[in-house]
Amino acid sequence: MLEKVLIANRGEIALRIMRACRELGIRTVAVYSKADRDLMHVRLADEAVCIGPAPSAQSYLNIPSIISAAEVTDADAIHPGYGFLAENADFAEIVERSGFTFIGPRAETIRLMGNKVSAIEAMKKAGVPTVPGSGGPVGENADEALRLGREIGYPVIIKAAAGGGGRGMRVVESEHQLLNAITLTRSEAKNAFGDDTVYMEKFLQHPRHVEIQVLADGQGNVIHLGDRDCSLQRRHQKVVEEAPAPGIPPEIKNEVAERCVKACLDINYRGAGTFEFLYEDGNFYFIEMNTRVQVEHPVSEMITGVDIVKQQLLIAGGEPLAIRQQDVLFQGHAIEVRVNAEDPVSFTPSPGKISYFHAPGGNGVRVDSHIYSGYTVPPYYDSLIGKIITWGPDRESAFARMRNALEEVVVEGIKTNIPLHRDKIFRDKAFAKGGVDIHYLEKKLRNS
Ligand code: ADP
Repeated sequence: MLEKVLIANRGEIALRIMRACRELGIRTVAVYSKADRDLMHVRLADEAVCIGPAPSAQSYLNIPSIISAAEVTDADAIHPGYGFLAENADFAEIVERSGFTFIGPRAETIRLMGNKVSAIEAMKKAGVPTVPGSGGPVGENADEALRLGREIGYPVIIKAAAGGGGRGMRVVESEHQLLNAITLTRSEAKNAFGDDTVYMEKFLQHPRHVEIQVLADGQGNVIHLGDRDCSLQRRHQKVVEEAPAPGIPPEIKNEVAERCVKACLDINYRGAGTFEFLYEDGNFYFIEMNTRVQVEHPVSEMITGVDIVKQQLLIAGGEPLAIRQQDVLFQGHAIEVRVNAEDPVSFTPSPGKISYFHAPGGNGVRVDSHIYSGYTVPPYYDSLIGKIITWGPDRESAFARMRNALEEVVVEGIKTNIPLHRDKIFRDKAFAKGGVDIHYLEKKLRNS
């Protein structure tokens, strides 16, 4: 069992991880940048170490500084959260080589899944359905690229193998744009990710984003916690998530979830992970795997009662999974909104001091947030300031509770996207019905 965990992250997820540690009697070390002295979990952690100035390159991405903090506090494991170093295989390797436990998969698994081309290859081998495409890197040969484009059929999407966070992708509508798009995406990928490998996929016109949550102990036990629908997106970033994905026949979902479990066994996966799919016309198409806890993990927790972060800690401590697939009971429906410090219309970030915060509450309402009245949102990081999650015995009641929660919550002093959720998204009839595609929100925003 782990005794002391260093949390190499900030904001709501750092607090979330700290809560799980405390429940398990694990001591915690918070690391923070100079801009983050006032973070809630920094106050609550057993120990706290400043790891550098505000810019994340010098603090939350500063590997030597984080390793030194683990050394001076005598921590035995490091939890990377999401973002920052969570999917950095070199970091995982350095953590382990320095004698600490990395709370996540082995470095080689992160490397395999971090490259989308090798991830797709591994999934194909395991029988997980993938998007029709090049099936490997698109080379420099123009004729070959044009042939591939014709074979796949337009529109296609050119994607960076090392891409992430919705960056490094370009849709190509017709053949005459193809070669130029490949060149552009290649050079962008080189600049952003230091790797110019690109591949080609069929661009699906009306897909939904549906993903499968898994837990694996690396000792031969793997379970899935069902699916989530994250189709409401803006600029490839998720805005609202729910579990289970509405309106998809259970046998189709079970089939794909079982294939994900098998894929985990094939690659000897360890820890929590998510298989992301596009879902269109009754078919699932794998797009990538996230080898970490995700922002939207709470909706799966709410419908299964399984604490995903606690399971990550237990697995990292060497415990075999105590939950069998047949023990996982899916109950009701959960929905999560991401609350961002941003203008609800223009989406420009809105950092600053929160003069007043009132959290929503009531039956089936969960708030995962680090903010409080008087807290100043620094301008240096992601604009996510919290998540509101509601659960109900069915989708309608989860929605009704979310509408209440969005009426109750008060954040003053900065702008947030709460009005977007309250006045637009949760009044939208198609969304309330369920099953809108990944382009739906952007179209709606353009037309309003
Ligand atoms: P990232 O790692 O940057 O998140 P993903 O491969 O997960 O990239 O894709 C992010 C989003 O881009 C998807 O949720 C979807 O909205 C869109 N997308 C990616 N691939 C395709 C595709 N083949 N067809 C249509 N949309 C796609």
